[in-house]
Amino acid sequence: MTEKADLQSVLDRAAAGGRITPEEAVALYRDAPLHALGTAADAVRRRRYAGTEHIATYIIERNINYTNVCVTACRFCAFYAAPKDTAKGWTRDLDDILRRCAETIELGGTQIMFQGGHHPDFGVEYYEKHFAAIKKEFPELVIHSLGASEVEHMARISKTTVEDAIERIHAAGLDSFAGAGAELLPVRPRKAIAPLKESGERWLEIMETAHRLGVESTSTMLMGTGETNAERIEHLRMIRDSQDRTGGFRAFIPYTYQPENNHLKGRTQATLFEYLRMIAIARLFLDNVAHIQGSWLTTGKEVGQLSLHYGADDLGSIMLEENVVSSAGAKHRSNRLEIIDLIRKAGRVPAQRATTYEHLVVHDDPANDPVDDRVASHISSIAIDGGTAHPELKLLAPN
Ligand code: SF4
Repeated sequence: MTEKADLQSVLDRAAAGGRITPEEAVALYRDAPLHALGTAADAVRRRRYAGTEHIATYIIERNINYTNVCVTACRFCAFYAAPKDTAKGWTRDLDDILRRCAETIELGGTQIMFQGGHHPDFGVEYYEKHFAAIKKEFPELVIHSLGASEVEHMARISKTTVEDAIERIHAAGLDSFAGAGAELLPVRPRKAIAPLKESGERWLEIMETAHRLGVESTSTMLMGTGETNAERIEHLRMIRDSQDRTGGFRAFIPYTYQPENNHLKGRTQATLFEYLRMIAIARLFLDNVAHIQGSWLTTGKEVGQLSLHYGADDLGSIMLEENVVSSAGAKHRSNRLEIIDLIRKAGRVPAQRATTYEHLVVHDDPANDPVDDRVASHISSIAIDGGTAHPELKLLAPN
């Protein structure tokens, strides 16, 4: 199915809201003209958001990395320290975490992403204690954190079921799961980059359990570690089938592998065109996932802008702190004024959103843009700190 006319008829069907098969998606992803792919994806986005299609959203959040100690040793990860590597490993104490939460609120942030390694001693009790403490002091802060891998790990440490683990951390304060740990769901590429992680099927099973227990999540995909086009589309198929069963994925967020400081060094990164094609094919193929996020952190601001014309409706977060993806070489940073400007110059009206995607502030008049950007000055102070003071302060995975 590579004839031009055939591709166009599939694109037309997808643009009109029809469901496409995985085989059709592979053909479009590989062979459809980039522009035609983007035009079809944008048509789908416009129809889904009819009435607010002129808006693109962002969120202000802080990634709080509680430990880098990890037993899982993913080959693409530049962040973790093995438990015996005491020179590299660190863990934050609760007071430090609470201070970071307070700063997040002070700077206009609405969400924290609690993210770290699979620490050999951290079971369900650790997360219960920390989430309860955060919610007690900062009930307004949304805890959008962790994912299926952490749940599998903490349940094993505490010798309980994933159902029990999810119910307990949810009761303690977790609001929703981030999509971290999805990496690549199909068997071959997952084993190649994260051989000690649970299988892709298991990752989805745990996420579906969470959805059924009332904890929604996002979903992600790590591109560019040597997977094939068919494996990328298989990843999307697994998410779409899962979403048909539960409807609990709020968003899909592809991001590109960063090749520095890890055991996969030397493998190719996904090209920016491949990334844009993925944004578009995700919008066309994932007809049951509401939000597609452009991840400019690993691809750059200009590509972030372009993604808004290829089916993305959201540009993710202004991160007050990010340390995982940046440890692997992601170099792009943005502050609030920049992201507002960036969205506006992409021809959209910027809007700060909540974790659940409601618009909190719509920046429809440039005259009312914030002038005193405390987020900007905080980010530059982290950037300076990141070069010297703390091994963690370099840049985490999109969520
Ligand atoms: S990606 Fe997460 S689970 Fe894998 S090694 Fe890094 S910190 Fe550990």
